[in-house]
Amino acid sequence: VMGLAACGTAGQSGGTASGSPSAIGTVEQGFKIGLLLPESKTARYEKFDRPYITANVKSLCPKCEVVYNNANQDPNLQQQQVDTMLTNGVKVLILDAVDAKAIAAAVKKATGQGAKVVAYDRLAGGPVDAYTSFDNLQVGKMQGQALLDALKAGGDPKRGPIVMINGSPTDPNATEYKKGAHAVLDGQVTIGKEYDTPDWSPDQANTEANGAFTALGAQNVVGVYAANDGMAGGAAKAMQNSGVKAGTPLTGQDAELAAIQRILLGTQTMTIYKPIKPEAENAAKMAVALATGQAPQGTTTVDNGTSAAIPAQIITPIVVTKDNVEDTVVKDGFWSVAEICTPQ
Ligand code: BGC
Repeated sequence: VMGLAACGTAGQSGGTASGSPSAIGTVEQGFKIGLLLPESKTARYEKFDRPYITANVKSLCPKCEVVYNNANQDPNLQQQQVDTMLTNGVKVLILDAVDAKAIAAAVKKATGQGAKVVAYDRLAGGPVDAYTSFDNLQVGKMQGQALLDALKAGGDPKRGPIVMINGSPTDPNATEYKKGAHAVLDGQVTIGKEYDTPDWSPDQANTEANGAFTALGAQNVVGVYAANDGMAGGAAKAMQNSGVKAGTPLTGQDAELAAIQRILLGTQTMTIYKPIKPEAENAAKMAVALATGQAPQGTTTVDNGTSAAIPAQIITPIVVTKDNVEDTVVKDGFWSVAEICTPQ
């Protein structure tokens, strides 16, 4: 009787169920890795994600080439970008989806052709092979808790309405932030107005905040939840221009330079620092492993509705307030004191 070992390589002409040999790249020869980021209004992508991922890929695989595309918030464009990358022979995609549901068909096409897909930061739909991100529910809880604490410090947290400015409804992270924030805030505060903001647009957030302040009375508003720093910037402008009381709590996320500066000036209460270095390193490692026929390293698994046990690495987010700017973003080299102290 033939042992299973005999079923390995000998005498096989075609490919196996796990993909044809030509789909496997080698570090010695190098191969193409596609990097797809969703937008460029949020500072992190061009400033941190792109260079960190590229550098990590280069150190793991000097002969590999990173093919980069930014979708500028356009889900159709992102699908075309995937198509073009597949045509150009990329072996693995590092994909930060504009629209997690809409991109599922492109993910299916990619994996159907033997390419691999690492969902980066946002959990795309479809048969993705690996995922790395932060604990996004925790991000929302931290934002909600910081807002609640600041409201309590000023008296009854229900003494006036708050405004909630959530992120893009096509981004599954935005859903998690919103869920986490509501888990802390519901029943504890008065939610006067709430918006989901297409494209995470800072301008749209400004318009939403202005509308809310007019409807609720700017003087009555006691707090603003903004899901990220770009939108917090739009909200902060509206707060100043509409006569919302100075020092009214405002949340954010991403530890953008402008937000750190607002925190030190007292016009924003907090942000969330998400160390992008380890996230980028995880993505690069997962991509190189997958493209060379190895299993990606995961410390846990996630379910995106298509695949039930996607190997995943999830990083813990960090709250930043005026009290710990030095111990967090400065200590980690995310921003230098000189950068923080130079007005933009
Ligand atoms: C990211 C945030 C970012 C937002 C807008 C989210 O998926 O996790 O860091 O601020 O998208 O691009």
